Amino acid sequence: MLKSSVHNHSTWCDGKNTLEEMAAAACSAGFTDFGFSGHTYVGFVNFGVRDELAYAAQIRQLAKEYQGRMCLYAGMEHDYYYPVAHREVMDYIIGSVHEIQSPAIGRRYIIDGPKQSVLACREEVFGGDGLAMAEYFYEITAKNAEQYRPEVIGHFDLIVKNNADGSLFDEQSPRYRSAALDALACCCAADPVFEVNTGGIFRGYRAKPYPDPFLLRELLERNARVMINADAHETAAICFYFSECLELLHAIGYRSIWVWEKGEFVERGIAELSQP
Ligand SMILES: [Zn+2]
Ligand SMILES: [Zn+2]
Repeated sequence: MLKSSVHNHSTWCDGKNTLEEMAAAACSAGFTDFGFSGHTYVGFVNFGVRDELAYAAQIRQLAKEYQGRMCLYAGMEHDYYYPVAHREVMDYIIGSVHEIQSPAIGRRYIIDGPKQSVLACREEVFGGDGLAMAEYFYEITAKNAEQYRPEVIGHFDLIVKNNADGSLFDEQSPRYRSAALDALACCCAADPVFEVNTGGIFRGYRAKPYPDPFLLRELLERNARVMINADAHETAAICFYFSECLELLHAIGYRSIWVWEKGEFVERGIAELSQP
């Protein structure tokens, strides 16, 4: 089975469980490698990991306690607008985009939250043009990869989070698809690992993981590296939908994925990972 993941939160940011509780759950579930990825700090709302050094030190301490049983890692979920401060003490960063900031009015619109915020963004920044909003999201996503070269790209198409009913923009439209594919090509140039993120399903927003199958097909075509992450904010989510995800990737044509083991990415066959 797949017993490794690098995208997990704790009470250092918006997770429900402490580092200790998350690590204990991962160890009981048989994980060999388990990485944390606290959100970078957003000062004016006091959200995220304020003291990255203390956070990393606490994880290193915990890692000592688990030595010989499970490897623990200190990572950050870096946001384009709120860059990581102490990358030098982290094992990796996950590059994500969680909001859109209006260049004209300077307001921030969270796209990883309630739909009202995304609707307000579409109306106030893009004059009601949902596709223009998606295009801007992908521009930032590409910049995030180019500027910061994160080891992992987080939930590449998060802009579809609140669009399960298609009311924000048409995901089938050529404009949407080419914006996503252009950003994907830019990201690929930085050679990151793209995560297949099951967190949106656990929290009831999506019926399928990020990124969408059309993007997973493109990644396969480009021979890009993909991994599976739960984006867990609580112990119950740590390996949620992993086996279904392996089946989905296999159905798309993948025969292997990349797995974080002993501090590096290694390629593993899906057949091997699918065995109980
Ligand atoms: Zn995220
Ligand atoms: Zn996350």
